[in-house]
Amino acid sequence: ADAILEIRNLKKHFDLGKGRILKAVDNFSLTIRRGETFGLVGESGCGKSTAGRTIIRLYDRTDGEVLFNGKDVHKLKGRELRQFNREMQMVFQDPYASLNPRMTVQDIIAEGMDIHGLASGSKRRERVAELLREVGLNEEHAGRFPHEFSGGQRQRIGIARALAIEPQFIIADEPISALDVSVQAQVVNLFKRLQKERGLTYLFIAHDLAMVKHISDRIGVMYLGHLVEVTDAESLYARPLHPYTESLLSAIPIPDPQLERKRERIILKGEVPSPLNPPSGCPFRTRCPKAFDACSQIVPQLREVEPGRHVACHLY
Ligand code: SF4
Ligand code: MG
Repeated sequence: ADAILEIRNLKKHFDLGKGRILKAVDNFSLTIRRGETFGLVGESGCGKSTAGRTIIRLYDRTDGEVLFNGKDVHKLKGRELRQFNREMQMVFQDPYASLNPRMTVQDIIAEGMDIHGLASGSKRRERVAELLREVGLNEEHAGRFPHEFSGGQRQRIGIARALAIEPQFIIADEPISALDVSVQAQVVNLFKRLQKERGLTYLFIAHDLAMVKHISDRIGVMYLGHLVEVTDAESLYARPLHPYTESLLSAIPIPDPQLERKRERIILKGEVPSPLNPPSGCPFRTRCPKAFDACSQIVPQLREVEPGRHVACHLY
């Protein structure tokens, strides 16, 4: 399948002054195919939101390239930049914080259409009504304010806002993490349906593997600013290769008792090190149950160790 997004050696470092550099995203390389859902997973603070925000150009990059439909996003100007601002949209984690409380649902959803001059008057109203129906809300909701809705409904409003300007690509940054468990599956199903109907590509960010399980075609696991494993979702769940992926996966209960025996819960020692002072060599080595001598000396690179499977670990 053809690539819609190619990320090459992307770095996002924050200069905190006094010689302190926070390497939030380091040497991040990834290709996302048109029409797929790529799940990006890791504990909070591992750099996944920063990666998402740098990809969509909410942040400048420090180094590297983000090619969207073959063009370097961070070099776009004028008409091409405006087009990119339509084609890639973001849905945020917190539907409470990301919707302006003083705007009606109609104005929130239509804001992008207004900016890009896509519709006005009765056409604008019709489009909003259509979008509300498309995300499972009622067109009578258009005149209400965000506080009148539940968390799941607000996330639906956020999704309608993203869809309003007909993007090709949506970065969803933990879109279900703040929702009740009972609502999470509904929102995931909405994402899936919209993808089918509209041929969307997703970068779906989450802090645990259980959340991306039912939506991702492929998955990337991040640790301390680095991608440590990238593979198709099925292989990842069946046979994780990186020791960090193994530990993340071991935390998910498995309903199948036969598998249960093979998978024991791996409790990692210690805390995630500060990204201001990362370990030498492999970023995971201070917590890795399988670390050996070379791990403190040499940074493992993300390499293709089996067809379609990339792992950054000296064991492979
Ligand atoms: Fe563990 Fe070493 Fe592999 Fe890092 S490189 S994950 S420390 S075995
Ligand atoms: Mg985050």
